[in-house]
Amino acid sequence: MGEWSDYFEDFPEENPANYFGGRFDPAGAIKARELETQALQANSEIKKMLADAWKAEKERSFLVVEMCPQCGLKELSTYKIKGKYFLCECQDCGIYGRGKSHSEALKSIEDAYGYGLDWRDNPVPWGR
Ligand SMILES: [Zn+2]
Repeated sequence: MGEWSDYFEDFPEENPANYFGGRFDPAGAIKARELETQALQANSEIKKMLADAWKAEKERSFLVVEMCPQCGLKELSTYKIKGKYFLCECQDCGIYGRGKSHSEALKSIEDAYGYGLDWRDNPVPWGR
């Protein structure tokens, strides 16, 4: 690393990191990288906020734990989200389903047998 950084110190116009918008602009390139980092941080903060909000929504909406129709373990959590739809998620095998009624949600789980669904791959529902 030392050799390259010495070289770029002597010939800053040779350093691709000093270009911004196709022009030699070390200050602009630094600013652009700062903005990009800030945008990424803001993005991950928003993602975390949404994930936390969803977790809280699920805690508020929790209904019952029952036997999972796929794995047979008493690990299937059912939620009634915002009073609008039912969501079932197995805490063991990961299968999930949703529907306007509890039985419709269970039916969508049965329809998903063998597809290898796992809600934990995409914990927030808008990612599914
Ligand atoms: Zn299961």
